[in-house]
Amino acid sequence: MKFNTQLLHGKGVGKYPDGATIPPISQVSAFAYETAEELEKIFDNKAPGYAYTRIGNPVVAEFERRVNDLEKGIGAVACASGMAAVTAALLNILGAGDEIIAGSGLFGGTIDLFGNFEALGIRTKFVRHITVEEIEPLITEKTKAVFGEVIGNPGLDIIDVRAVSEFLHDRGIPFIADSTTATPYLFQPIACGADIVIHSSSKYINGGGNSISGVIVDSGRFKWDVSRYPGLEKYKKFGPFAYLARLRNDIWRNMGGCLAPMNAFLNIIGMETLGLRMKTICSNARQLALAVNTLDGISVNYPLLPGNPYEALARQQFNGFGGGILTLRPGSKDRAYKLMNRLRYTLNATNIGDIRTLVIHPASTIYVHSTEAQREAAGVYEDTIRVSVGIEDAEDLIEDFVSAIQSLQ
Ligand SMILES: *Cc1c(COP(=O)(O)O)cnc(C)c1O
Repeated sequence: MKFNTQLLHGKGVGKYPDGATIPPISQVSAFAYETAEELEKIFDNKAPGYAYTRIGNPVVAEFERRVNDLEKGIGAVACASGMAAVTAALLNILGAGDEIIAGSGLFGGTIDLFGNFEALGIRTKFVRHITVEEIEPLITEKTKAVFGEVIGNPGLDIIDVRAVSEFLHDRGIPFIADSTTATPYLFQPIACGADIVIHSSSKYINGGGNSISGVIVDSGRFKWDVSRYPGLEKYKKFGPFAYLARLRNDIWRNMGGCLAPMNAFLNIIGMETLGLRMKTICSNARQLALAVNTLDGISVNYPLLPGNPYEALARQQFNGFGGGILTLRPGSKDRAYKLMNRLRYTLNATNIGDIRTLVIHPASTIYVHSTEAQREAAGVYEDTIRVSVGIEDAEDLIEDFVSAIQSLQ
């Protein structure tokens, strides 16, 4: 089964009451049973069923199965947001005294979160690029996870997931991949050795820009040594499911960042067209990058442009695609603002993966709380504009950007 067929008919797609073609929304807080004994069994995981939506809900479970099927994991846990997913995925295995190694080009919210972790005694060491060469000197026995974005947002650095995962596995360290910007259409990190995959499904998976959500997928392949990950001790009996069992029965449920049923439903509807949207978005992004790249007074970053250091890796790892984000540098903040204000078909908004083309000036918005050094390390300069390309017709987007850029001369 190929990707678009799998979205509609894959293992994750269920059967619904009354022959409904899409899952009903179980818009409830709690589930009632005839007898006290039945509820006891459900609470004790001795019988299948739902008790309370923070812990489980049918339409949320359907969304989890569909994402898990695409990412080829052993199970997925849906969260209230991408940030809730990052938080739960890491706190499931980390404690005071532990260290993370992460890419400095991470999404701004994740960098801020790792700052919050300091108060819990969890330290993050940042590298400019997640490569074997840059990670190796920073590894200590306190290193419990390496975290990186498969395609950095907005720096557009690309991780060689296979090389990094293999290197880390020899050292007993899991690789946690934020694959939001790659999406399962371009890439499945687990197939290349990643241990845990995270998405902000608010972005491409939802696609319509109508709800916030996140999801964690477990490969089930990492061999958790409970002397290094004492939080998993109690869950050792679940074998390859130890990480997921702790997440579901402990950290994720207790933090309370569950996904709302309505948002799971909206994600399911959106996800069914992920393949169609990504194909158009990636094609538009590539055509727009190539067109703008010929103009004077502006520089463009897009993985598939000739001379880009990640061109070969992107083509090989992402099946010839380069993703849906590009960045433009027109030379100054003033020119960046003028350009943004002259565009007709774009929205100024802090999101990515919408069907509409969105532009933003990261230095004055997403990275406004970051230091100059953090910004530069994330590939954010005072003139950087991030473009999250939508599904408009490429000709219109190109005409819009070319005329706005030419009007700056
Ligand atoms: C948006 C984003 C997040 C955070 O997700 P939210 O759904 O906004 O909480 C994390 N990582 C990446 C790469 C993102 O783009």
